[in-house]
Amino acid sequence: MAALTFRSVGKTFGDTEVIRSVDLDVDDGEFVVFVGPSGCGKSTLLRMLAGLENTTSGTIAIDGRDVTGMLPIERGVAMVFQSYALYPHMTVEDNIGFGLRIAGVPKAERQRQVRAAAEILQLTPYLQRKPKALSGGQRQRVAIGRAIVKSPKIFLFDEPLSNLDAELRVQMRLEIAALHQRLGATMIYVTHDQVEAMTLADKIVVLRGGRVEQVGRPIELYEDPDNLFVAGFIGSPK
Ligand code: ADP
Ligand code: MG
Repeated sequence: MAALTFRSVGKTFGDTEVIRSVDLDVDDGEFVVFVGPSGCGKSTLLRMLAGLENTTSGTIAIDGRDVTGMLPIERGVAMVFQSYALYPHMTVEDNIGFGLRIAGVPKAERQRQVRAAAEILQLTPYLQRKPKALSGGQRQRVAIGRAIVKSPKIFLFDEPLSNLDAELRVQMRLEIAALHQRLGATMIYVTHDQVEAMTLADKIVVLRGGRVEQVGRPIELYEDPDNLFVAGFIGSPK
């Protein structure tokens, strides 16, 4: 588990300012959901937190430690992508254990951790399959498994369920909520889905044009949106 802070964080690509002075506090173990229109900077914020992208200005701190210059692997953060990003030629077992293998974890220990993650995600019967022989939901579980075995302090989910059909999305949403309960890890979750935001979040962050528009508990944003933009995303009309 980890707390994190964004202080006056900015990001420009070339001449374009895509993140503008973002301030945000996330508590240890909190489930925070980012919502906002396409292009508002949600993925960029996650990528900066993960160390996949530099900040142009400001600081990000994890457990009070400025992470500027820290490699992704040193940050205790694991990211789950919408596209799953699985290796097609590897089995489920090898996909989940890939990061551990790269980190030099011995085979027996790797196997133990992969099996434990597979058990949590109900993937035990599929460990020897290749991704193409799995359903969409199973593939997404493998991607989550790959994050779990890293024992991260912070999980980052970038629209993890948007490629799944409606029914499966509901099921996976419940599984992610259960995973949060079970692990108690801090989670930052990007979604377009209002129901996901309302049901998963301890705290919702509404973003617009690279700025934080409003932050609050789901019920606060729903009942008392600051403006029509926030109301349009999650609130009842003002
Ligand atoms: P979101 O995830 O909310 O849809 P992104 O964080 O992906 O938004 O993108 C925010 C803005 O930054 C967009 O205008 C996007 O085009 C731009 N952007 C993202 N990555 C790059 C990049 N590597 N180079 C240039 N512009 C980028
Ligand atoms: Mg995105």
